[in-house]
Amino acid sequence: MVSLAACSTGKSGPTLSVDEARLRAIAAACPVAGQEALPLDQAVGRVTATPIMAAYALPPFDNSAMDGYALRLADLTGDGPWHLPVTARITAGDGRALTLAAGTAARIFTGAPVPLGADAVVMQEHASRAGDIITLTARPHAGRNIRLQGEDMPPGASALTVGLALTPPRLALLAGCGVVSVDVRPKVRVAILSTGNELVEPGQTLCAGQIYNSNRVLLRATLSELPWVDLADLGILRDDPASIRAAIRDAARSNDVVISSGGVSAGEEDHILDALRLEAAELDVLKVAIRPGKPLTIGRLGQALYFGLPGNPYAAAITFSQIARPALRRVAGLLEEPDTSLPAVAGFTYVRMTGRREYVPVTWTERDTLGRPVLERLGEGASASLSPMALAKGIAIIPPELKEIRPRQALFVEPL
Ligand code: AMP
Ligand code: MG
Repeated sequence: MVSLAACSTGKSGPTLSVDEARLRAIAAACPVAGQEALPLDQAVGRVTATPIMAAYALPPFDNSAMDGYALRLADLTGDGPWHLPVTARITAGDGRALTLAAGTAARIFTGAPVPLGADAVVMQEHASRAGDIITLTARPHAGRNIRLQGEDMPPGASALTVGLALTPPRLALLAGCGVVSVDVRPKVRVAILSTGNELVEPGQTLCAGQIYNSNRVLLRATLSELPWVDLADLGILRDDPASIRAAIRDAARSNDVVISSGGVSAGEEDHILDALRLEAAELDVLKVAIRPGKPLTIGRLGQALYFGLPGNPYAAAITFSQIARPALRRVAGLLEEPDTSLPAVAGFTYVRMTGRREYVPVTWTERDTLGRPVLERLGEGASASLSPMALAKGIAIIPPELKEIRPRQALFVEPL
């Protein structure tokens, strides 16, 4: 084997804080190039590749926000009550260009065009009607209950900027502005692979020394929730340096991102790091002050971003969500990073080793007087355990320097 001596491992390199590791991972991520035009109904979750202009004003004309009566304020002279004859009836969808005659009111419905000359709409509950005469006792403010043309979005305005996920409300905004199709970033081609001689797939017979592969379905399921991912599943790789090296080289040639699990620690059967070095990868993250998940490798392999996640399933899940996913989002072209953490308080006692930010699976049933969830800890923090994270309602974040957690200690929690 090629001697990689001191540089081989990087295992002796500096330990990065979670935040620094995340920033380095994001810095290593290049957004996928190009764009494709999609109709709105196929674009949910995709990422805007260009600014999107409003084709039409929203709303396209002045219209009533209420069922009621449109009137001219200048007609309400002196002190009320005032009496006005109703001379027109305007419903939603009425295409006539009407002008309200002075001294009269128009019956109008929500969404109907406000006639020219009218400068307020009185809710029907605030007007009494006898035959064709309405009586008002209070003077409405100018513009009351009128939605002005373009007040939501003027025509030609930038409705959405670059790098936004097309959520249902954003698609609704584009539809409201008359946008037909939207330029989005191409999907990110992501290859996943599991490493380990001990791994077999569910459905296969479990022989002595073997375990079922949980990371594959963990990653598949997690990535399938991202509408901008095009997934290639490369299955299980044996702990063999040559085949690992060939597999990651091929995967990096035909994908934007490669994600492996296992084989990134310092053991002799951990071959990912050596394979990456032999393939001349640029490595940005090697060791992170995180629990679980200290060994974690992130770098660039050719044109691809490489995430070498730890093998233990809870560690793989946490390092993916905390460090790899923000970088993956950047590859997708996303420029906003959601902050999902919520204030909470501990309902448990935990005396711990300081130095690493820790992610603890938690659940809760109660809230304190401020409405914060009172967290119950699940499991003992083992990075190999699957059941605590499966039962967890969220993940509590323990700051690196905190030595003891006692009930009522303020913490942040990320709901799952
Ligand atoms: P490694 O990082 O390869 O040393 O693996 C660390 C631990 O995670 C070992 O106990 C492995 O058996 C376990 N492990 C590795 N890959 C997987 C996987 N895909 N599913 C479940 N456990 C795994
Ligand atoms: Mg292994």
